[in-house]
Amino acid sequence: MKWKNKGHEFDELMERKLRIYSEGWGIYLFGAGIFGKQAYEQLAEFPFKIKGFIDNDISKQGTEYCGLPIISLNQYWQERECSIIVVTVAKKNAAGILYEFGKRQFECGRDYFIWQDFLDRVAPVLLVYQYNKLHVPLAQICVTERCSLKCKKCAHGCYATASSHEDLSISEVMHSADSFFTRIDYIKVFVLIGGEPLLYKELEQAVAYIGEHYRKQIGLFEITTNGTIMPSDELLHVCKKYNVLILISNYGGTIPRLKEKYEMLISKLEEQGVSYYLGSESDTWMDYGFEYVDRKAEEEQLIGVFDACATPCKEVRGSRLYSCVMARSVSENLGYNVGENDYLDLDRLEGSNWKKELLEFTFGYSEKGYLDMCNHCHGADAKNHPIPAAEQL
Ligand code: SF4
Ligand code: SF4
Repeated sequence: MKWKNKGHEFDELMERKLRIYSEGWGIYLFGAGIFGKQAYEQLAEFPFKIKGFIDNDISKQGTEYCGLPIISLNQYWQERECSIIVVTVAKKNAAGILYEFGKRQFECGRDYFIWQDFLDRVAPVLLVYQYNKLHVPLAQICVTERCSLKCKKCAHGCYATASSHEDLSISEVMHSADSFFTRIDYIKVFVLIGGEPLLYKELEQAVAYIGEHYRKQIGLFEITTNGTIMPSDELLHVCKKYNVLILISNYGGTIPRLKEKYEMLISKLEEQGVSYYLGSESDTWMDYGFEYVDRKAEEEQLIGVFDACATPCKEVRGSRLYSCVMARSVSENLGYNVGENDYLDLDRLEGSNWKKELLEFTFGYSEKGYLDMCNHCHGADAKNHPIPAAEQL
């Protein structure tokens, strides 16, 4: 999206739709079940007041769940002043509930919200407007473009990176972390990635620095690895200390020799008490088409491509915040060298509205409304271009 009213893009929404959020407002979660509990736990990171649960099950009404009262929809109807409903039930059960809401003329986006939409689109806006807190879902620091594998269709174009390619210096990594974490209040997932991040010589220092200074601002702190390199004891020590999750991409289907490596890595991680997650074996990737797509498109079409793509993969690099790590890295690694200015300079955020501008950028707003690399990318259509996963050159 192209900025039309920078720093004020959500003003009207707040004014028109969210009047209800006056002092003392709170949330009722619809569904006192497993999804309700998960939502309740996730909302713990926000300063919102959860007033209770609503459930149609008569046997639950009048009891408590997660230490909060469970009431009926009728009771809510009597006491609904200053409250909204967030529907957390499974999709198959939602239709009946929405029908009930319709009968009471509850409006979606004003009186009630569906959980995921509330979490992704509403809560971050409310947090900035009401509490001056900026929560973002995901960002990463790409510490190196070098990799121990050469996947033909690497979405970062790392196969084209020479082994002598210069990594980010540790001071650049620290500067990236400082620039980012001094401006946001909380991030759900923060990832150190590559290339292969375990090739990065100062990874232990990077984890220790971010862990020591900013761990409280991070929900999940992760390192994504292809599992080919055994981490040092020192690195694992800091990963354990700062509760870093080692996320192992699973290419065992295409590269069977990696299965043994995964086993050895997992055994070491277990021995050292470090959390890990081995991804599921996938034999198909999406082809973004970076090597051959050339849309030669006009502005309007490119804005459409960018908006439809809605990639969550933000990258912090020094004081620059990129909205698509793939666009930045592919442009450099495959020598397109376009879109050099397609980032938000965190150091240049100033004035009373900078937090709202940053919020808007995380929602996809920018001066141009697209990235130059969108010209060379299938974007959302990449899912219609399946390719074998991790095929090696
Ligand atoms: S392992 Fe990952 S970073 Fe390395 S070449 Fe393959 S896709 Fe790219
Ligand atoms: S369409 Fe643009 S934003 Fe989306 S992945 Fe491609 S280059 Fe990145």
